[in-house]
Amino acid sequence: MTETTTEKPKLATCSLAGCFGCHMSILDIDERILELVDLVDFDKSPINDKKTFTDRCLVGLIEGGCSTEENVHVLESFRNNCDILISVGACAITGGIPALRNNIPLTECLAEAYLDGPTVYNPRGVIPRDPEIPLCLNNIYPCHEVVKIDYFLPGCPPSADTIWEGLVALLNGKPLDLPYELVKYD
Ligand code: SF4
Repeated sequence: MTETTTEKPKLATCSLAGCFGCHMSILDIDERILELVDLVDFDKSPINDKKTFTDRCLVGLIEGGCSTEENVHVLESFRNNCDILISVGACAITGGIPALRNNIPLTECLAEAYLDGPTVYNPRGVIPRDPEIPLCLNNIYPCHEVVKIDYFLPGCPPSADTIWEGLVALLNGKPLDLPYELVKYD
């Protein structure tokens, strides 16, 4: 008798210009992580340290907005490889704290970071510009200004319950219709 296996949907996650707090909130689902691994297989994600897509994913979770050219490439690859893309948290949805730099010219931000900041030691006075370093964009861009985003989970970070309820609904083919108490903006 041959054993039939049902393939699970795939889930991918990434952190762009974020602090990984939203990923911590994903892990904060505690013992439900065991249910999650029954529901999905993780593809590209810092959670399993898989660096590239190996399959098409049903859901992609994006933490953080776009601060560098590399962030844009990663976000575009998520759009190309995921059926449903979700902006998770304030940084992905609005740019968040990193977007505070949007009112300051990039040259001033770099000077403060590498030359003039109170804790900077840089006797050669060089601002790093190695081609290996991702090129900074002029502003931080929320994800939906770069690619089409299907759903938004607000919060800084969204609570583990919010992420869990949203994921389970989408993985079961239901609309993402969260109860009012799970939609928070702080
Ligand atoms: Fe961190 Fe908050 Fe941004 Fe999430 S939304 S990456 S927790 S700062």
